[in-house]
Amino acid sequence: MVESSSVLTPAFSTNLVEQNQELTFNTQQSVETNVLPGINDDMTPLISANTGNSITTVTNLTDLNNVNEPPLKKTKSNNSPENKQRLLEDRLGGILSCCICLDLSNLPMYQCINGHLMCGHCFSHLLADGKLKDELTTCPNCRCEINKSNCSRNLAVEKAISELPIVCEYCLNTFLRYEIKVHQNQFCTDRPTVCDYNLIGCSWQGAYHNLESHLGVCHYPSKTGMQLLDTLKEKKQIIDDEKKCLETVVDLLSLNQIGVSDLILKPFRTDDFVAKLYFETSRFTCLSFQWCVRARINDNTPHPQLTMNRTLSYQLVLKSKITQTIDLKFFILRGPHGDLQAIKPVIYSFEFSPNHTETEYLKLSISPAECNKLLSSTSISFRLLMVQVERNKE
Ligand SMILES: [Zn+2]
Ligand SMILES: [Zn+2]
Ligand SMILES: [Zn+2]
Ligand SMILES: [Zn+2]
Repeated sequence: MVESSSVLTPAFSTNLVEQNQELTFNTQQSVETNVLPGINDDMTPLISANTGNSITTVTNLTDLNNVNEPPLKKTKSNNSPENKQRLLEDRLGGILSCCICLDLSNLPMYQCINGHLMCGHCFSHLLADGKLKDELTTCPNCRCEINKSNCSRNLAVEKAISELPIVCEYCLNTFLRYEIKVHQNQFCTDRPTVCDYNLIGCSWQGAYHNLESHLGVCHYPSKTGMQLLDTLKEKKQIIDDEKKCLETVVDLLSLNQIGVSDLILKPFRTDDFVAKLYFETSRFTCLSFQWCVRARINDNTPHPQLTMNRTLSYQLVLKSKITQTIDLKFFILRGPHGDLQAIKPVIYSFEFSPNHTETEYLKLSISPAECNKLLSSTSISFRLLMVQVERNKE
C-alpha cells in the first residue's frame, strides 16, 4: 500500500483537494445532526461556540480522514462506487486484522473468548512467552485468559480476509488475497526470476520481464563442458552430502540393535531464584537400558522471553548403571503424534561409559517460529531412533 502511494503522488494530491472539499461538507452535516438531540454534554461547547470553533473540528476530521484513506488510483471523484468499495475494504481490513501485529494475515486466525482476533504467529508467540515467564497468558485487549482450549479459530474471518485486496509487492498492482499466490508464482511479470542456465552456474537474477533480454546475452549456453566442470563438481558435492546422510540412515536401519521410542517432553521448572523452563521425558527402556531426554530453550541463556530468536536443544541421558561402553547413534524424527514439522534427521554419535552418561545439548534444526509453536503446546511429542553400533563389526 505504502509503496503504491509513493508512486502515485500526483494523483494523491489532486484527490486530497477533492476530498477536502467534499468531506468538509459531509462533516458539517454530521456535526449538525449530532448536535441536534443535545443529549451529549460534551457536544454543548460545540453548539455554543462560534463558527470558528466548529471549523476547527471540521478540519481535524478532514485530516483524520485523509490519514485513514489511502490514495486511490485513477479515480476522479470520491463518490464513485469503486471508491466507496475501496473505503469499505480498508475499514474491513482494520476490523479483521490481528490485534497484536495489526497486520492482515493469511495464517489461521484465533480469537479469545471475547472475540479479539490474533494471527496464528502472534498466538503461539504469546503462549510461548507466557510459558517462558511462568505466567498466565492473557489477551492483550481484554486481559481474559488465553490457552489452546479456550481459543478457537475463526474461519469466517479467515475467509473474509482472503477476499480483501492486497498489493503485489513486485508489480504494485492490486489483487484479492486468495489470488495473490498464483499471480506471484505464475503471472506477475515483475516477479524475481533466475536465469534458465542457473543450474550450470549463471548467477543472474532479475524481474521476469527482463529474463528474455538476459537470455539473449547470457554466455553460459556457449560454455564448453571443460569450463563448466568446476560448477558441476560443486553441485554434485551438495547432492552427494545429502545422499550420504540418507544412506547412513538406511545403513543404520539395517543394523541389529535398533530402538524406536515415541516420547513426550513435558515442561518443568528449575528451583533457581529465577525459575528456568526445561523439558523432560519420563524414563523409558530402549535397547535394554533406561534413558530419558531433556530439552532446554536457547541453551539456558537468561531471559529467553526477551528475544525473538528461540532455539530448542536436547540431551540424551542414560539412567541405567553400565560396566561396559555403549556406542550409540541416535536422531530425532517427527513421529506419529508430533507437532514438529518434518525435520531433517541429524545423526549424532555418542559413546556412553560408566563416567559419561549424558550427551551434550544438541540443537534441533527448527525455525524460531516453529520453536514458539512447540513451546505453546502443553507437551512436545517426537520419535527417537537409537541404534547401537557393535564395535568389532565396524
Ligand atoms: Zn499477528
Ligand atoms: Zn480479548
Ligand atoms: Zn505482481
Ligand atoms: Zn544467464
